[in-house]
Amino acid sequence: MTQGKLFVISGPSGAGKGTICKEVLDEERNIRMSVSMTTRSPRKGEIDKIHYHFVDRETFEELIEADGFLEYADVYGNLYGTPRDKVMEWLDQGIDVILEIDVQGAMQVKKSYPEGVFIFILPPSIEELKNRIKGRGSETEESMARRLGTALQEISAIDQYDYRVINGDLDVAINRVRSIITAEQCKLNDVEVGKIINRYKEEL
Ligand code: ADP
Ligand code: 5GP
Repeated sequence: MTQGKLFVISGPSGAGKGTICKEVLDEERNIRMSVSMTTRSPRKGEIDKIHYHFVDRETFEELIEADGFLEYADVYGNLYGTPRDKVMEWLDQGIDVILEIDVQGAMQVKKSYPEGVFIFILPPSIEELKNRIKGRGSETEESMARRLGTALQEISAIDQYDYRVINGDLDVAINRVRSIITAEQCKLNDVEVGKIINRYKEEL
């Protein structure tokens, strides 16, 4: 069976990654999103095991010790990580997987899984980024300053990514991410070329 594709989506906090991913998943049935583990507290409306696995630091560190993360990082003062098992299981079953993770985590994945597809979501401006984080109403002043302070550092890593999508108009951005996914799903690789030729040969 052909291995699923791994899509890694990053970008500064408030750029719209979560909003875009949700829409992409609604449409695309054969693509799943990994649920990360975090030591951050749930925001209003966030549900354990759906938005994140919310755990204490000790539980997180136990999984680090057990080599249970595909990647993990300290982001804005909390630990976030991608549990390895589910992602590898889906990829092995030929299911495509989206990881919505920060730049540090994405670089770890790039090392261990270079065949991943790396997509960076940009805000149209820093002013709009500020408005979106404020509008989400989920951060304290301190947490917002921290998120904004890290934005330029994150954007500076964009040269490590394969695609960039500016999230100005939401519908345009969603369509672009969907198009990238579709294009990557149609991309040929050597293994697939052999399989395709054999399949048609068998029929003749
Ligand atoms: P991220 O996951 O990158 O931190 P979110 O998806 O939580 O960002 O989006 C941050 C805020 O901006 C949310 O309130 C969301 O509804 C809003 N938002 C996302 N995309 C757009 C857009 N294109 N135009 C206006 N507001 C947006
Ligand atoms: P938030 O607290 O806004 O949900 O997420 C903060 C940041 O952590 C975002 O940049 C998000 O992409 C990142 N993040 C979420 N899950 C993971 C993960 O599993 N690993 C890493 N490295 N970053 C993550």
